Amino acid sequence: TVGCVVLDSHGNLAAGTSTGGTTNKLPGRVGDSPIVGAGTYAANGLCAVSGTGVGEEYIRNAVAYDIAAQMKYADRNLESAVTDVMFQKLDSEIGGVIAVSQTGEIVLQHNTPGMSCGAADSTGRFEIHLQLENGGAPNEQDATES
Ligand code: ASP
Repeated sequence: TVGCVVLDSHGNLAAGTSTGGTTNKLPGRVGDSPIVGAGTYAANGLCAVSGTGVGEEYIRNAVAYDIAAQMKYADRNLESAVTDVMFQKLDSEIGGVIAVSQTGEIVLQHNTPGMSCGAADSTGRFEIHLQLENGGAPNEQDATES
């Protein structure tokens, strides 16, 4: 998967997700990436989310929408909503998400052994490239900044 989430200077949120699907997929399989609410979701005022992993689980759990819905209806912040979905609702080793909220909170989490991701702002003041390991919380040992 190549996913992207954006908060622009006007406060608009957007998410995009591209994938080749899964290895040995059945002909005609549709994964989660093109399904809004499963592997991709954005709603102004809440968040933008892009997911990678076992698409069937993302569809079954409406992962990207669930994160936004928890913010809207349960008053959770982005990190709390992502953590709930990735570590309470999904089985382990299913995948990960990148997400940004209306307030600019960036959350990168996965329940797989690793996930490559990064973050930047349009001014270049903040740019990181991360290879996250062991649960997704960036720390000094698994984060390389440039
Ligand atoms: N989520 C994709 C799918 O199931 C696979 C991926 O992570 O690229 O189609």
